[in-house]
Amino acid sequence: MGKRDYYEVLGVSRQAGEDEIKKSYRKLALKYHPDRNPGDKEAEEKFKEAAEAYEVLRDQQKRQIYDAYGHEGLRGSGFSGFSGGFEDIFSSFGDIFQDFFSFNLGGQSRPRTAARPGDDLLYELKLTFEEAVFGTEKEVRINILGTCEACNGTGAEPGTKEAVCPMCKGSGQVVQNQGFFRISTACARCQGTGKILTSPCKVCEGQGRVRREKLVHVKVPAGVDSGTRLRLRGEGEGGYRGGAPGDLYVRLEVEPHEFYERDGDNLFGKVPISFVQAILGDEITVPVLGGEEKNIKIEAGTQPGAVLRFPGEGVRRLRGYGKGDLYLEVEVKIPTEITPRQEELLREFADLEKEKGESKVKKWLWHGRKERKKNTAAGATREAHS
Ligand SMILES: [Zn+2]
Ligand SMILES: [Zn+2]
Repeated sequence: MGKRDYYEVLGVSRQAGEDEIKKSYRKLALKYHPDRNPGDKEAEEKFKEAAEAYEVLRDQQKRQIYDAYGHEGLRGSGFSGFSGGFEDIFSSFGDIFQDFFSFNLGGQSRPRTAARPGDDLLYELKLTFEEAVFGTEKEVRINILGTCEACNGTGAEPGTKEAVCPMCKGSGQVVQNQGFFRISTACARCQGTGKILTSPCKVCEGQGRVRREKLVHVKVPAGVDSGTRLRLRGEGEGGYRGGAPGDLYVRLEVEPHEFYERDGDNLFGKVPISFVQAILGDEITVPVLGGEEKNIKIEAGTQPGAVLRFPGEGVRRLRGYGKGDLYLEVEVKIPTEITPRQEELLREFADLEKEKGESKVKKWLWHGRKERKKNTAAGATREAHS
């Protein structure tokens, strides 16, 4: 029997590109689709013919063979077209038909497997500031639908076997004929699994999963912060009927610290010192995170609000190497209560300051007046430049 030239069938030139071939085929498939031409033998033949042509021309290898040796060459390579009829065609080009028709066409759906992965879970875990900085290990108790250990998640009583579903004979699909179409749906008896339980597991009543409390070990790395999510593979809900378990996500919430604050990997704290220490300088010890102490040198003449930076003494970087920095802000405390003797000494100090500063103060006052005059004269621009 004489086969038509594939290019002729699709109405494209021998140089036609992939897109053109696809477009042309879609047009023909739509026109001759059995759903639109019920009982029309000629349309059916045209539909099949177009599908065969498309099957060859969309495939680089087959197209080359066809271009060089024609139908004869393809037969030699084992290609025989769609002997299986419509279902063959639908399953080959399912994606093309999906655009045309909203429902699922016969032959495209496969029996569903019963095993499905379990759900992922989210758990909120509170950490202290220190635990987040240094990392920690925790045991958390979660309530999950876990794989039934009695039946290993199969749902069948141990020692018994699953039987083939009598309704769908094991295919998992029930096929209904609707004119030209065969519409298959999942079997209601076995939920598309093709198997039924003859004796369900007594522990889980055939569900394969049981609700139970589970203790999960959570390893929190150093450097985490509020909002960090840790993923624990396979620690979520158990899978359905032997499917893989879901994951457990642990979202961290870090409590504030009494003295320290964090900004990413950097740590900020305050060091209270007396005004005498600020003036004379001193060596002090401050408690740092982790219960240790740190010796700090306060230089003579340190100003309130001065910030001391200690590189690499901050928080360990969660992603990357090393640590952030530690910043300590100097807070100068002014005493509100002093002894008479202290007052005496301070007054003496004040007198000395007065003597020492007399000329300076005058100078400053004079200088200040001069500056103010200048500024008023020259306007704001001068200020901006100085
Ligand atoms: Zn069970
Ligand atoms: Zn069934």
